[in-house]
Amino acid sequence: MSAISATTEFASELIQHASVTPDDGGCHALIAERLAPLGFITETFDCGDVSNLYARRGTAEPHLTFIGHTDVVPVGNMDAWRFPPFSATQADGYLHGRGAADMKGSVAAMVTACERIFGKGGNNCAGSLSLLLTSDEEGEAIDGTRYALEQLNARGENLQYCLVGEPTSEQKLGDTIKIGRRGSLTGLITVHGIQGHVAYPHLADNPVHRSGALITALANCNWNDADGVFPDTTLQISNLHAGVGAENVIPGELELNFNIRFSPVQNATGLKAQIEKLCADLELDYEIDWSPVTDPYRSVGSHLATIVSSAVFAELGVEPARSTAGGTSDGRFAAASGAEVVEFGPLNATIHQVDECVSISDLGKLSQVYQRVIEQMISANQK
Ligand SMILES: [Zn+2]
Repeated sequence: MSAISATTEFASELIQHASVTPDDGGCHALIAERLAPLGFITETFDCGDVSNLYARRGTAEPHLTFIGHTDVVPVGNMDAWRFPPFSATQADGYLHGRGAADMKGSVAAMVTACERIFGKGGNNCAGSLSLLLTSDEEGEAIDGTRYALEQLNARGENLQYCLVGEPTSEQKLGDTIKIGRRGSLTGLITVHGIQGHVAYPHLADNPVHRSGALITALANCNWNDADGVFPDTTLQISNLHAGVGAENVIPGELELNFNIRFSPVQNATGLKAQIEKLCADLELDYEIDWSPVTDPYRSVGSHLATIVSSAVFAELGVEPARSTAGGTSDGRFAAASGAEVVEFGPLNATIHQVDECVSISDLGKLSQVYQRVIEQMISANQK
């Protein structure tokens, strides 16, 4: 079967197994079933409601690991979808469904690449290949890849080169790979005042009026720390709320949410101290609640990045840009354990949206790029 039809068929099967975080929906069992005959030893590292699958073929180095997730975000308004989100309908050259682009298409492409290489048997491998998949990437991401890596590291197994299948392409398959991701820090500031009647302001203390300077100060936070690989650290206010609903009441408090996307030049402790100081200098009666931090990562080395770039160029004729933009990914856990991490996958235009879809021809090409990367990295019969 061709790369395109095999990958589309398996991606469809995975989409039809609905798996909203942390439910795996049986996807890992399907994947393990496909990998076992190819010589992979499969293991599960489940934790609470989260399923984690680790499948490794061989023990030698170099060791290449595909990292991915089978969980998907909720469908939202089911009636707004052109096709039922778990039907995996093909139309106009696209495979439609929740998870098609993020990232069941990539997972299917990884598996079919393995099948084309190892399916015929007798492949002579100089290194080893593994897949590490979780059902908790879109959620808390605590019991997922992070947990599985802890288990592997505890038994002395460290990942060396990791290719994450997140949808990194922007306009055209292969135009962008990622070699790092910014960190994310979210805070909730509550500014306290004294509630009262708008006609008796001398008896109240209006936290909205007091927060004007705070909003200005936060909006003007400017780190100017771009370093050629990472863009500037930025802060955005995402929610602002005060008021009890009545027009004649001065509210007693104001709540403000903000998020900082930060480069590895910064760290969460330093940023928190900076924001605390900014609030203290304004002499506000306030408190800040911090959400758990997502650390940034910057991939070490460039061996895998070079191989992925040349595989993309060989298969697609595109020279990929090396980016660190976008949201967070599980790549950070692998990078923290010392592996070189590169992310490459399909177009991200429809991820997390209604009518998520992936180009069927891109699925075949993606699988061919993955195949070439495996062959370049670990096969003794290199192309
Ligand atoms: Zn994803």
